[in-house]
Amino acid sequence: MSELRELYQEVILDHNKNPRNFKKLELHSHHAHGHNPLCGDKLELFLEVADGIIKDIAFVGSGCAISTSSASLMTQFLKGKSLEETRQHFEHFHDLVTGKEMDEEALDALGKLAVFAGVREFPARVKCASLSWHTLINALDSVEEAAATE
Ligand code: ZN
Repeated sequence: MSELRELYQEVILDHNKNPRNFKKLELHSHHAHGHNPLCGDKLELFLEVADGIIKDIAFVGSGCAISTSSASLMTQFLKGKSLEETRQHFEHFHDLVTGKEMDEEALDALGKLAVFAGVREFPARVKCASLSWHTLINALDSVEEAAATE
């Protein structure tokens, strides 16, 4: 188990140090701000959606290692996915970080995102890990206010 933990930590540290898709998208169809006041994490998310598919997704912002790496892994994971799949993955990711029981298939489908299963032991960190996902849903629902984890 501790080897697995180390591996997970490596993924998180790598994505924190070199966040993927870390930029603004000049051309975007959806956009939202997210803020986690508990930790001070802030991010801005951009999506280019066409024909129900996420063609491009990117973010900018500043936050702790968990929130930055979660946003980075999320953007990498969701590029090319349909909106329908995306909402399903959101539900599954939420189950994962809050420690709900999940079936193997749902867990497998999350791939590398499974690294965030560890945050369920730290309620404050759950908000860091899920900030980008809540911001994503707000962007898709075109909610203009900043997503808050409170
Ligand atoms: Zn945080």
